Amino acid sequence: MAQRANKGEKVFRGIPVSAGVCRGKIIVLDKASHSIEQTAIADSDISVEIGRLQKSLTDTRHQLQEVQHRIAESIGAEEARIFDAHLMVLEDPALIDEAVRVIQTEKTNAAHAFHTVAERYAKALDKVEDEFLRERASDMRDVTGRVLAHLLGQQNDVDIRHLSEPCILIAHDLTPSKTALLDRTHVLGFATDIGSRTSHTAIMARSLHIPAVVGLKTVSNELESGDYVLVDGFNGMVILNPTEQTLFEYGQLVRKQVSLEEKLREVLDQPAVTLDGHRVTLSANIEQAADTESVLNTRADGVGLFRTEYLFINRDSPPSEDEQFEAYRKVAAALKPHPVVIRTLDLGGDKFLSSLHVPTEMNPFLGWRAIRFCLQQTDVFTAQLRAILRASAEGNVKMMYPMISGLDELHQANALLNRCKDELRERNIPFDDKLEAGVMIEIPSAVLVADALAKRAPFFSIGTNDLIQYTLAVDRMNEKIAHLYEPTHPAILRLIKQTVDAARVHNVWVSVCGEMAGDPLLVPLLIGLGVDELSVTPPFLTQIKFLIRRLKLSETKALAEFALNCESPAEILSRCQAVAMSAAPSLFDTQK
Ligand code: PEP
Ligand code: MG
Repeated sequence: MAQRANKGEKVFRGIPVSAGVCRGKIIVLDKASHSIEQTAIADSDISVEIGRLQKSLTDTRHQLQEVQHRIAESIGAEEARIFDAHLMVLEDPALIDEAVRVIQTEKTNAAHAFHTVAERYAKALDKVEDEFLRERASDMRDVTGRVLAHLLGQQNDVDIRHLSEPCILIAHDLTPSKTALLDRTHVLGFATDIGSRTSHTAIMARSLHIPAVVGLKTVSNELESGDYVLVDGFNGMVILNPTEQTLFEYGQLVRKQVSLEEKLREVLDQPAVTLDGHRVTLSANIEQAADTESVLNTRADGVGLFRTEYLFINRDSPPSEDEQFEAYRKVAAALKPHPVVIRTLDLGGDKFLSSLHVPTEMNPFLGWRAIRFCLQQTDVFTAQLRAILRASAEGNVKMMYPMISGLDELHQANALLNRCKDELRERNIPFDDKLEAGVMIEIPSAVLVADALAKRAPFFSIGTNDLIQYTLAVDRMNEKIAHLYEPTHPAILRLIKQTVDAARVHNVWVSVCGEMAGDPLLVPLLIGLGVDELSVTPPFLTQIKFLIRRLKLSETKALAEFALNCESPAEILSRCQAVAMSAAPSLFDTQK
């Protein structure tokens, strides 16, 4: 990987999503799109282009067989079979013959011919009724991309599970499923063109504790593998070829971070209590059983959100009930007597399962997602419910349903839960009969009927990531409208207040497990609004506790009162900043 001749410093600005600074060589994963130019060719070059196409098909086949072999060895033969469909595309005579015919009759370059024909096929597959066939469109595009990369000399088959040296990944997008595969020992950080603070990829970066910046618009096209960059996950910058002066400034910033971390260690074993004695429950959000260690290390009061989707993605078939039970049991047993809130499957939106053939939708966040999916795919749902129930015999397990929009969904989900309890009773399998099943409040309609939900649910967990997205009609993934994604919008604060008020009447516990809970600027406001628990990504937990221990409940209440009477999100935010920064200025030292 040669370093580029142009050594000038260049700064790209995006959205900081995971704190920290790293520097090193980059690997650019799949560029935004291959720009396929049409070039007229001479008669004498027709056979040359056909030869190039055939060589690219052969090279791609070898490459795919190698990937398949590696996956079979490292993960399993079943998973490796996903690539059979890809290999079949490469041998499809109709596709190849037609591409050859286009080269011959239109006298055009192989890349243009192959792209045109393959895209026509993929579009036709997009439209068919049959779900299985429709899925083949994405296989077609995946394989086409590989063939084109060979034809265009942009071959870039990086195995992100096994990197040979430490590096920073740059990509147009990193899906949550790709992020879950990252070789944690070698990925120093990452940066992407698209995405926003609450996309699941950003959330994963925080829990992996690696610096990340998203929403950089064109960075993946402007940088090349082998370039040297610095990623500033505090301030949302990627700096190509940083100068000595820049490196010196960042050295100072990193030193400040190290001394802050030392200071934070002092509160590790202390409770999250305000100066005037108000105890806040501070829990952790996790994505997999392996995260349990970081929960124990941060001395969290338990797990407030266990996102179970990651058990289901990157595999060819859903996990069995036993496999799920084992994962849930492990966490529950390790954290006993602390509670572990397992959230039932929330796939859809930006998290898709290769194994369950979920069709592409126009508006995935408004579509077949979370509880809506589970109430239709009852086999998948009840297997999960049984696994959770069984794990409840081994620890302090609670569960909650995502994306509840009203009472009916809660009734239906609870009916299935009761059916699962009956089944287990009949089989004499132990479970906690009093297991609490709470409701996530993340759709505005749920807030408006929170009084009714509060009569039937023991606790609420406010998912502010989605609540903000659905209330303000701002796609949480879209960096172009990220400025409209305002947690301090008066509408959001009123919804949180309304939820807390409804909960109080029925003695219902209120947690916040969205990213607002891990933002030190917003924590005083949430406490002032009356939430009982904050559940945050483990690396943020100690700093949130540090802050809570420097706040007074009375000042947070005054802040909330001000905010509820203020019409401007910016003014509310600036008052929040004033409160948080005066309580714990050292938490904000890494801002440039
Ligand atoms: C939320 O929406 O705030 C939440 C915690 O759930 P997720 O981010 O997984 O959608
Ligand atoms: Mg959500």
